[in-house]
Amino acid sequence: GLALLEKIKKQESTTNIPVIMLSASDDEDQIVSALELGADDYVTKPYIAKVLLARMGTSFRLMEKNQALETLAKTDFLTTVNNRGCFEEEVGKLISQAQRSNQELVIIMLDIDFFKQVNDQYGHESGDKVLVNFAQQLKKCFRDYDLIGRIGGEEFVLLMIGSDQETVKQRAERIRQCIEDEGIKHQHNPEGELLTVSVGYSCYKTKGKDFNFDHLYQLSDKALYQAKSHGRNCVRRYEFEH
Ligand code: GH3
Ligand code: MG
Ligand code: MG
Repeated sequence: GLALLEKIKKQESTTNIPVIMLSASDDEDQIVSALELGADDYVTKPYIAKVLLARMGTSFRLMEKNQALETLAKTDFLTTVNNRGCFEEEVGKLISQAQRSNQELVIIMLDIDFFKQVNDQYGHESGDKVLVNFAQQLKKCFRDYDLIGRIGGEEFVLLMIGSDQETVKQRAERIRQCIEDEGIKHQHNPEGELLTVSVGYSCYKTKGKDFNFDHLYQLSDKALYQAKSHGRNCVRRYEFEH
């Protein structure tokens, strides 16, 4: 029983499954061990089915509450994409995956143009709605296994693996276009008064390399800066020597 419990709790895919130990033994040390290993409860035989069922109900309720809390802690409350903390945590997993399979890593950074003016012109609440709308558009452009996060007020990052250069270029351009097509009014864009986004990205071949996410992140940020300097509402790639 204890060995199985340990296995269940050690494995990521099963660790959140509630476990109630049911045993003929009422040895105190064993009960303590089970609880320390992560059992939710310990019931000794003979048991009363009704009581065991009630205890199972409690365990499930706790599990659901924990899951809800976990989701809340990982999600940006406004846009419902990953918040910065969650994004950074998940990045590590995607990098290992890319390195194992020798796939290319891509970081795309997005920063809404003149967003401060949206707040100034329409109010903070409208600015929030624009952010929600923006995030929804982003989600439409990406695959389930791309990682997306809101890392600042009007700044978002996407991490993708396994896309070739041409696909990445097209997808970055598609997001930019998608936002422009949404047609959110905005007085500071001289070309039609629409909300736009600037996009910077960089790609990295992970094969046999010691990967440094922060470095690649900074390069994408530089590309984003180039997009801003180039007049905004455009996509720039950081040309990375490797
Ligand atoms: P640029 O084109 O150079 O990116 O200009 P910008 O105005 O977008 O950039 P700046 O960094 O000057 O302004 C970002 C603004 O985003 C400032 C802040 O008021 C606003 N902001 C940050 N977080 C939120 C939020 O959660 N809701 C709303 N409504 N506004 C936010
Ligand atoms: Mg910004
Ligand atoms: Mg901005």
